[in-house]
Amino acid sequence: MHKFGTVALIGPPNAGKSTLMNKYLGQKVAIVSPRPQTTRNRISGILTTDESQIVFLDTPGIHQLRGKMNRFLLESAWNALASSDAVVVLLDAALYSAKPHLLEKEIKPLVTPVAESGRPVLVAVNKIDRIKDKPAMLPLMARLNELWPEAEFIPVSALRGKGTDELLTRLLDFIPDGPPMFPEDQISTAPVRFMAAEIIREKLFYSLRQELPYSTAVEIEVWDEESRDDMTLINAVIYTGQKTHKGMIIGKQGSNLKKIGTEARKEIAELLGCKVHLEMWVKVRSGWTEDPGFLRSMGLGE
Ligand code: GDP
Ligand code: MG
Repeated sequence: MHKFGTVALIGPPNAGKSTLMNKYLGQKVAIVSPRPQTTRNRISGILTTDESQIVFLDTPGIHQLRGKMNRFLLESAWNALASSDAVVVLLDAALYSAKPHLLEKEIKPLVTPVAESGRPVLVAVNKIDRIKDKPAMLPLMARLNELWPEAEFIPVSALRGKGTDELLTRLLDFIPDGPPMFPEDQISTAPVRFMAAEIIREKLFYSLRQELPYSTAVEIEVWDEESRDDMTLINAVIYTGQKTHKGMIIGKQGSNLKKIGTEARKEIAELLGCKVHLEMWVKVRSGWTEDPGFLRSMGLGE
């Protein structure tokens, strides 16, 4: 018997959705960052074992924000849910233990739409490694049970891999029988060039300050595996919404861009299993987060 199915990971930004997916895959597929709003597109990760293949759909996070890009992000999360066999809602237990009012604000609004989807739901109460005093979690668990009587709660630490095996076992109960749809060595349904752009975006995030990441996008302009036997040549453009940001991204004498480039190149080379030559440019494109044509060209719109 073999199982095949899809699982949507949903929850507020920063809950640990991408971390959980990467943990299951044993490899970084989705960007993880301490800043919210990191995952933009719907990113899939394929977990293949002897008995099953599960496609995880990592989503951008359910949140209330205005603007075209955000509407698209929200829509893509709900679409992932609608097309999945089961749903894992992730939430940050450490955050809500300390700030119960945020639970009401961020999680309560999810309960009805998730229930209406008719999908089986598991709630992963994440980041338990950050709660030293376990009894401190009791009020949170009580409130969760009250808010969401029909859900099953599983305490996990996506980062440490605690409780994640149990979560996976419970998930498998909801996955239908079926043959694998992807080769066993394929880790995502996303093309590698998209994943490469995501890696660059991640390095950018870590190198920049608060407001910057939101208005940056990465486009792969050249992807050439042919001209050099042992090497993939990649040209990428970093778009930023604001002129003033360009200098910050590039850094003094190109130092920041160089650092991003070195880190990204290493990781892309690992992903591809070959040497990589990476060149990057920074271009200003004001208002791109509201430009439907550009958003579409970046895969951020229907
Ligand atoms: P997403 O927005 O839901 O995809 O969240 P991420 O996976 O990007 O994680 C957001 C932040 O929380 C990152 O800094 C992660 O390292 C951190 N994080 C995720 N899971 C855990 C966990 O189980 N424990 C702790 N301590 N941190 C976590
Ligand atoms: Mg994410």
